[in-house]
Amino acid sequence: MHFDNSYARLPDRMFTRQDPVPVAAPGLIAVNPRLAAEMGLDAARLATPEWLAVLAGNRVPPGAEPLAQAYAGHQFGNWVPQLGDGRAILLGEHIGPDGRRWDVQLKGAGRTAWSRGGDGRAWVGPVIREYLVSEAMHALGVPTTRALAAVTTGEIVYREARLPGAVLTRVAASHLRVGTFQYFAARGDTEALRLLADMALARHYPGATGPLGLLAEAVAAQARLVAQWMALGFIHGVMNTDNAHVGGLTIDYGPCAFLDAYHPDRVFSSIDRGGRYAYANQPQIAVWNMAQLASCLLPLIDADPDRAIEPATEVLHRFADLWQAEWLARFRAKLGLATAHEGDRALIEALLDRMARSGADFTRTFRGLAEGTAAAEFRDPAAFTTWEPTWHARLAAEGRSLEAARAAMARVNPAVIPRNHRIEDAIDAAVQGDFAPFHALDAALAQPFDAAPDHPLRAAPTPQETVHQTFCGT
Ligand code: AMP
Ligand code: MG
Repeated sequence: MHFDNSYARLPDRMFTRQDPVPVAAPGLIAVNPRLAAEMGLDAARLATPEWLAVLAGNRVPPGAEPLAQAYAGHQFGNWVPQLGDGRAILLGEHIGPDGRRWDVQLKGAGRTAWSRGGDGRAWVGPVIREYLVSEAMHALGVPTTRALAAVTTGEIVYREARLPGAVLTRVAASHLRVGTFQYFAARGDTEALRLLADMALARHYPGATGPLGLLAEAVAAQARLVAQWMALGFIHGVMNTDNAHVGGLTIDYGPCAFLDAYHPDRVFSSIDRGGRYAYANQPQIAVWNMAQLASCLLPLIDADPDRAIEPATEVLHRFADLWQAEWLARFRAKLGLATAHEGDRALIEALLDRMARSGADFTRTFRGLAEGTAAAEFRDPAAFTTWEPTWHARLAAEGRSLEAARAAMARVNPAVIPRNHRIEDAIDAAVQGDFAPFHALDAALAQPFDAAPDHPLRAAPTPQETVHQTFCGT
């Protein structure tokens, strides 16, 4: 790795220096050859004992300057003035052969100054979940943090049970969260805010300038991101401001889940009792998070906060239109529509409404539109077959053949997604030391649009297999 550690050069109140805490017996779960290649790294070398020791936190590689970042956040709407990297350590920033900058972070690397009562560790379940889902999201075209590697530690982690420990190597263009800005805004630290804003612009939005430019880009990126989540039936599950990425990446895969049967009010997270982060609430939460970012940026926009509010509010108000446009574009494409007509929203909403009432599987229904098998997903097939003619009429108005529309749909409606029950199966096996289901799932998820119609991972869960609740695993 070729390190250039810009975060470590920031004022030292913005992080704490912390080496990873060594583990007993590193064991390889996976190195990601696709990502390694993008980063200009040799996947085979990453799997050697020398680099396994780095990925487990037992050896600090030359040029790394490990640190834990300071951040704060609103958790379920409640202000928490201090969070920070309690179980993640940034080794440094690797510069790839194309000049791209990659934060290389070890998640589960031991206690830091921000750990509070936590052990700083991760068990194999959340590590496997984040590896599989973040890489699946990437293959689905969704901006996300990535997974370069996963290793076991040979140590036990104590949660509800004694569980095998693991470390994830998470990689991203930055780990700048809304909560990072909030930490310094709450302390009146305008200098730190300016440094963070400059870093966020340089890393994510090199074409934009100034705090309002940053806010406008972050708002647009969130609108795009959440529209993509919704078009895939993805529920993040913990959209706290510390898990809201300023660069518009999906970050922190905790109790995330994919819809099986579609319902807009669906919640999976065991800790989300009020349904704050339900599927259909995600755009509202995203704009709420952006409002928190806006309020952090006010002192950078104008020395007189009263004069800063108006332009910041104007930028925030763009979210609604951007979101509507992104959502419509995504769902039009899911229906094979290449042009925009009035009435498209009503057509899409009518389908979703029928899906909700008929317990239709989200992924299989949309893929079924491309394959002519959607009706079978409805408890009451008439709910589909009475909608279908309006869709066909709308398609006819496009002037393109049903075949052409179906081919286009198969490129945006995935055949395989990281189904909740498949992830659980992979985790259960991994706890027993069997990583074969993990590798099989990882391989299939790398080509989500290509699986054959009879591919076993396309199946919806049986009632016995259905996952009703997910856990953050901290
Ligand atoms: P999360 O809910 O995963 O986004 O984490 C919220 C906060 O809890 C962050 O500050 C984490 O660093 C911290 N945290 C989560 N799990 C642990 C752990 N096992 N040890 C120490 N801190 C943790
Ligand atoms: Mg988090």
